Amino acid sequence: MAKYDYDLFVIGAGSGGVRAARMAAMSGAKVAIAEEDRVGGTCVIRGCVPKKFMVYASEFAHHFKTAASYGWTVGDATFDWPQFLAEKDKEIARLSGIYVRNLQNAGAELGHGKARLVDAHTVEIEKLGTRTADKILIATGGRPWTPKDLPGAEHAITSNEAFHLPELPKRIVIAGGGYIAVEFAGIFNGLGVETTLVHRGPNVLRGFDDDVRSHLAEEMEKRGITVVLGAQHTAIEKTAGGVLNRLSNGHDCESDVVMFCLGREPYVEGLGLEKAGVELTEKGAVKVDAFSRTNVENIWAVGDVTDRINLTPVAIREGAAFAETVFNNRPTSFDHEMVASAVFSQPPIGSVGLSEADARKQYGKVDIYLARLKPMKYAFSHSDERALLKLVVDCASEKVVGCHVVGPDAPEIIQMAAIAMKMGVTKTQWDATCAVHPTLSEELVTMREKSMPMGLGQVA
Ligand code: NDP
Repeated sequence: MAKYDYDLFVIGAGSGGVRAARMAAMSGAKVAIAEEDRVGGTCVIRGCVPKKFMVYASEFAHHFKTAASYGWTVGDATFDWPQFLAEKDKEIARLSGIYVRNLQNAGAELGHGKARLVDAHTVEIEKLGTRTADKILIATGGRPWTPKDLPGAEHAITSNEAFHLPELPKRIVIAGGGYIAVEFAGIFNGLGVETTLVHRGPNVLRGFDDDVRSHLAEEMEKRGITVVLGAQHTAIEKTAGGVLNRLSNGHDCESDVVMFCLGREPYVEGLGLEKAGVELTEKGAVKVDAFSRTNVENIWAVGDVTDRINLTPVAIREGAAFAETVFNNRPTSFDHEMVASAVFSQPPIGSVGLSEADARKQYGKVDIYLARLKPMKYAFSHSDERALLKLVVDCASEKVVGCHVVGPDAPEIIQMAAIAMKMGVTKTQWDATCAVHPTLSEELVTMREKSMPMGLGQVA
């Protein structure tokens, strides 16, 4: 008789956990996976996927304005929030169902319920009881962080609730300046909600290239979002019509809804990690090595719960690398260098590699190539929206070490740039690539003039 019920027990059926469970099961291992919510995790259920549908829905307002400049009569366009929610939920249910089927087809056993470790080989699943496993993978992801000590914090929603608001608010205040804050500011603004973003820092999207940050903040304002920088909530008070946002700059404002987008935390609560002796980092994430192994020999962790790069494709690759290493006998560690990312703000951002400031710190001397231009699509329109394209080149190696795009299709553009950069492309090789015309991305391969540092470049 086998020593344990399973070869592998996975806690969390999100992007990382599902990939690992499927690959391990397909290699012949006996696998079980537990999920306390719906299968698909943050990405499918309350993150990337529904968010992108909301971005699509909200972009139409801008498209209608552009359409008018091309001679279309659009008329009185109205938006039906409940209809959109129903369609979105139908699609999310379909995708979640595909995840379930894929697990079943691979031969993994799915259990619904919150799982917690009893010891390094034993897991207790709510309502289902106790199971033992030779190996355990923690893939519980993250969840929104909220400031519990802020007076009135309980009146704020997070991204979790934003996907299911019973009705669209007339006014929203969004607290934070990261990915989720700028994405939802664009969404609500596009859907006609009076939107204010309040961020404590000097600009949105800390960690991104400074030219990108200031460019996006300007474009957000052009689209009608009020961007309040250098301020944060000191309290939230319930009013008859909504909430009063008390701000540190003294400019209090009322809104129907206030949404916290103040970061996410690894979801380790109630997991019983201490029972198995699993160590956490200072920030409360599960501590792992390059192969996603924890300090406990038979326990691994992948995805946002490890707080490395908190992106869906990274969790998937970490999950796959784990399965390759442990069940296919091919030691594989995911390389976290040169991971591209997109921010689905409006306009969106695509970014890979280093910001100008980080490249200067790392390489000393860098060359900057920068263009700001009016996207061709807006040639007829009164929109003064500009796109930004920026390359950061290490002078010594001539390698392109940073590529940043703000403008239409930037997320699609950056995926391709990331291939070349991952391969270590030099600026000469980059320039040898013939342009595709007429596109926005052709600017990337035709920038020959070096720009002044920190955004003092040419403006087309
Ligand atoms: P981020 O870490 O991106 O942003 C958090 C924001 O909250 C920052 O602006 C931060 O300010 C601010 N903040 C944090 N603590 C406080 C505080 N106590 N008071 C006031 N402001 C505060 O988190 P998000 O939740 O937006 O996103 C989490 C992660 O999820 C992202 O980093 C990304 O990895 C992933 N994600 C990816 C997406 C994509 O790929 N398109 C979309 C959404 C999420 P400061 O900068 O000053 O610290």
